[in-house]
Amino acid sequence: MSGAVTLGSRVPRRHHRGRAIPGEPPLCSAAMHPEQMLRHLRAANALARRAVDAGHHPFGALLVAPDFETVLLEQGNVDAVNHAEAVLARNAAQRFEPSLLWQCTLVTTVEPCAMCAGTQYWAHIGRLVYGLSERQLLQITGAHPENPTLDLPCREVFARGQKALQVHGPFAEVEMEIADLHRRFWKAR
Ligand SMILES: [Zn+2]
Repeated sequence: MSGAVTLGSRVPRRHHRGRAIPGEPPLCSAAMHPEQMLRHLRAANALARRAVDAGHHPFGALLVAPDFETVLLEQGNVDAVNHAEAVLARNAAQRFEPSLLWQCTLVTTVEPCAMCAGTQYWAHIGRLVYGLSERQLLQITGAHPENPTLDLPCREVFARGQKALQVHGPFAEVEMEIADLHRRFWKAR
């Protein structure tokens, strides 16, 4: 996205004034407003639809700045190995400082699989918002050869780590629209 680096270098100075701690700064207690979460989730689902139009699987993810509004990066699914969240997290780690990423939010249509949760952990992105649970996706995809869903809750992955990430999801308000996209996609596959 154009301007992403400029935004990224501006936001952390404003946000971290007086409380930046290298490594693992505590997450500030402010939380993204539910209305913002739903708006970002719908934007991520629009990305997922665009991913389908481009020949990929229906997943989309965003990186939202510490102001809970600015979208720093967006990413659709690439393929069965390069999931939207993992690709996004790796790009984020290359572009932005860990102290900024710890205050950022990864927003994704479907709960991250173990690989993506692990990549978010190592990229040091402190917050996660997801729409549909991995268990719900499993009910839609079953053992589909292109998406044999790995059913391991991301909270269990994060609980084995040493950082207290904030996790929000699933959201009943958007489950239907995200699930609809997947039902149509995997049924026709
Ligand atoms: Zn994944």
